[in-house]
Amino acid sequence: MALSGIEIFKYLPKTNCGKCGVPTCLAFAMSLAAGKAELTACPFISEESKTKLEEASAPPIRPVSIMTGGNPLKIGGETVMFRHEKRFENPPGLAIVISDTMNDTEIARRLKSLHSHTYTRVGATLKPELVALKYESGDSSTYAALAAKAKNQTDAGIILMCQDAGAINAAAEACDDRKPIICAITLSNLETLAAPAKELSLPVVAHADTLDELTELTRRLTDLGIKDIILDTGARDLKKALADQVGLRRLALLKKFRLLGFPTIVFPAEMTDNPIKESLIASALMAKYAGIIVLSDFKGETLFPLLVARLNLYTDPQRPLATAEGIYDINGPDENSPVAITCNFSLTYFIVSGEIENTRMPAHLLIKDTEGLSVMTAWAAGKFGADNIGGFVKKSGIAERVKHRKLIIPGYIAQESGGLEEELPDWEIMVGPREAAHLLPYLKSNWKP
Ligand code: SF4
Repeated sequence: MALSGIEIFKYLPKTNCGKCGVPTCLAFAMSLAAGKAELTACPFISEESKTKLEEASAPPIRPVSIMTGGNPLKIGGETVMFRHEKRFENPPGLAIVISDTMNDTEIARRLKSLHSHTYTRVGATLKPELVALKYESGDSSTYAALAAKAKNQTDAGIILMCQDAGAINAAAEACDDRKPIICAITLSNLETLAAPAKELSLPVVAHADTLDELTELTRRLTDLGIKDIILDTGARDLKKALADQVGLRRLALLKKFRLLGFPTIVFPAEMTDNPIKESLIASALMAKYAGIIVLSDFKGETLFPLLVARLNLYTDPQRPLATAEGIYDINGPDENSPVAITCNFSLTYFIVSGEIENTRMPAHLLIKDTEGLSVMTAWAAGKFGADNIGGFVKKSGIAERVKHRKLIIPGYIAQESGGLEEELPDWEIMVGPREAAHLLPYLKSNWKP
């Protein structure tokens, strides 16, 4: 659990010198506890206190970074049981299984699916980020060739589903700096597989069928200096998997049991042959509390809902989801296309832009920063009235992109049209519909460039 400001204060020098940017050590401790300052800002803290503070303030579930072709994928680091208590920190990675016995066409399709299932929603890029390579051929060179393809043809993080030390070494060499995850180390193969994990600094999946065995395994791994551990409880049915996930989270957070304070991996791919059921299982385990979810395949109709569920679960419930302020071009607009404006509450942006897309009419959509508030809330809070909309339109640069001077405002703020005509004397203010769903008939009957 994170330390409170008072607990942190005990470790500080208490000289109130102000070098850290705030006047007192207590204020600095409060800033640290709120995550608004870094420990390094105090130059006078002793090494001993620093070590103790870092240990005490380490999250109860260790964060593990997985190398990808881009930014590392971080899993774990969670601090709460329930999202509304604070927020969930690091979204789980989604992996597709690829066997080294699949034919070249199937392997190519699966590798390509990492790129082809990339979506942009509410300003965020949604995509899966992992491949799980299954060693079934019995031939380490075939396995290494598959690992090389995964590394060269995708930017995905790589999981080696293999328990053969020779094949792991060959595949890890082919992955080079991608640093694959060894999946899985058990009590029986610990002697053989711990060596490559330690030598190559690879994260490992610790697999055991009971929590007692899992505890013994993580104790031995950490004693060997292997700290980047991901837990697999061996559960291959939803009921047991859910119970294990909740049990592990409780032990780590509520009992502060460090030996099971690691992110987890789950295998919906091995729980059913039905793709819809697999997706449902994955969504349940995503909510409770998987760090990596291994799927049998990526299909748009089952993957996209999971990506959206993940986006929603891992947003901060204390901050409204907002879209960046700016001009959004929809359906390839030109200088004669309509210009509409709305607020930057992501759901509003998502709905309005989607409705404009559906009209198939090109348009410029102006998104005004309203701190993530919806149209009526922003208007009531004084963030979406004539004065600030006028100021935004003038500085947005839209006047240089269109020949006409017509601005469509949401029907809900029709009362601002008079004020806007004063703020923007060159513009004709058109009051649009209240509901985005009515945009098509509105544009058809009212838009004359
Ligand atoms: S720099 Fe360190 S000693 Fe000085 S006020 Fe800040 S926390 Fe206290």
